[in-house]
Amino acid sequence: MRLLVVEDTPELGEQLVQRLTAEAYAVDLARDGEEGQFLGETEPYDAIVLDLGLPRIDGLSVLKHWRARGIATPVLILTARGAWHEKVQGIDAGADDYLAKPFAMEELLARLRALIRRTMGHSAPVLTCGPVTLDTRSGKVAVAGEAIDLTAYEFKVLDYLMHRQGQVVSRTELTEHVYAQDFDRDSNTIEVFVGRLRRKLGNDLIATVRGLGYRLGPAA
Ligand code: CA
Repeated sequence: MRLLVVEDTPELGEQLVQRLTAEAYAVDLARDGEEGQFLGETEPYDAIVLDLGLPRIDGLSVLKHWRARGIATPVLILTARGAWHEKVQGIDAGADDYLAKPFAMEELLARLRALIRRTMGHSAPVLTCGPVTLDTRSGKVAVAGEAIDLTAYEFKVLDYLMHRQGQVVSRTELTEHVYAQDFDRDSNTIEVFVGRLRRKLGNDLIATVRGLGYRLGPAA
């Protein structure tokens, strides 16, 4: 899953990137509203964390701009403490969720997980496909109840495919949702990760759809 964080406070921005990266997200950081607005409308994010108080273009205007252009990416806004009117304005402008600063990192993580799950049509925190389960809270993967160790990138690929199960996902799409913007991307490595996932989780789990990409589980 790939996230955009738009936050101008350097310490909080770095802290968010570090923690979200440790949680297996690919994260891009924008430090002002202009850069954030541009990235949000040109890159395919799975969710966006948007501070409202931003230099150059304020967060509310950025959000309105995205929604006016039909960008439906789920957005969680960060508001000033006690500023209830910011929450109302944010939600009216198209925010999907909000957190008031200062917030607990665990709460942000839980809200992001729920936001991404709901957007992709899953209500339960444990995703299941045949004998394979992926617990989005702990990041634990199991086959028929037996825990399987995955590397960070194997997990990222599986996590995306599990959220999109039944649908065909191209290698390009996987690449865009598994790597951050400044990463030296190579879509051939996706093939390697899929090969390893098949060895660890069973050959039948991920089908190759010739010329199009991969599909996890039966066609939806
Ligand atoms: Ca700010």
